[in-house]
Amino acid sequence: MSMDRREFIKIAGISALLGITGKGAFELLRPGDLDAFEGQEGGAGLRKEDLPKIRWGMTIDVKKCDGQVVQKVRGVCDYLHNIPHFNNKKDEVKWIWGDTYEHAFADGANEYIDDAIKELPFLLLCNHCDHPPCVRVCPTRATFKRPDGIVAMDYHRCIGCRFCMAACPFGSRSFNWRDPREGLKGRKLNPEFPTRMRGVVEKCNFCVERIDKGQIPACAEAAPEVMTFGNLADPNSNIRQVLRVRTSLRRKIELGTEPFVFYLV
Ligand code: SF4
Ligand code: SF4
Repeated sequence: MSMDRREFIKIAGISALLGITGKGAFELLRPGDLDAFEGQEGGAGLRKEDLPKIRWGMTIDVKKCDGQVVQKVRGVCDYLHNIPHFNNKKDEVKWIWGDTYEHAFADGANEYIDDAIKELPFLLLCNHCDHPPCVRVCPTRATFKRPDGIVAMDYHRCIGCRFCMAACPFGSRSFNWRDPREGLKGRKLNPEFPTRMRGVVEKCNFCVERIDKGQIPACAEAAPEVMTFGNLADPNSNIRQVLRVRTSLRRKIELGTEPFVFYLV
């Protein structure tokens, strides 16, 4: 199940009524609140500070994930974000990838889950944590948390100190040891997304560039049967409905970072 596209379109329309940018609207509005605003002429009397916030999150249905899904979502993400490919682990740059249960849940999140599930690939990516240690340690604020919960990066501010990599307990970040353009040679580039430079850290951005245009993340669009993206702040959102009926795990919750990627098992 993917996020309701209709809600995105409504947010875009209401942003115009409110006289705020599309980006601002997405940070301030949540789908469940939109119906109430639609009848208001020009959004009169509506103050930004009165609007509730969005908290974007994702679920991944492990039971429906396999090697093909991993390949598909990684291919889509790699193309859209111009992620370089190098043929060795040390230089690897990864935003989303498949890993084993043992690696994903080294702490044994639930030792009693079905053994068959433990054999399936777990899609790993940045968890867009609510209390992200990577943000706390960044000396230049190159990594920051947006009001909608997305942990974003400004590559131009990154000085390559890698404090964020040391602080992230999930291994969600990659360092460009080599010029990424070398790893993009011979591949079709996405002209709409910037290539990075050697010496810069990068990671999954929850497709913030798509969200700000009213689209869901590309991986969730490519594998709607596996991934659900939505607003956790809205009790009626698709993601909240899924989480109500399915058992979910989050990685390393004992560390208190509050990951916002949930694994349905
Ligand atoms: S998963 Fe790692 S990189 Fe992503 S927000 Fe959490 S601490 Fe930061
Ligand atoms: S949310 Fe976007 S950036 Fe993150 S893994 Fe999915 S496709 Fe890649």
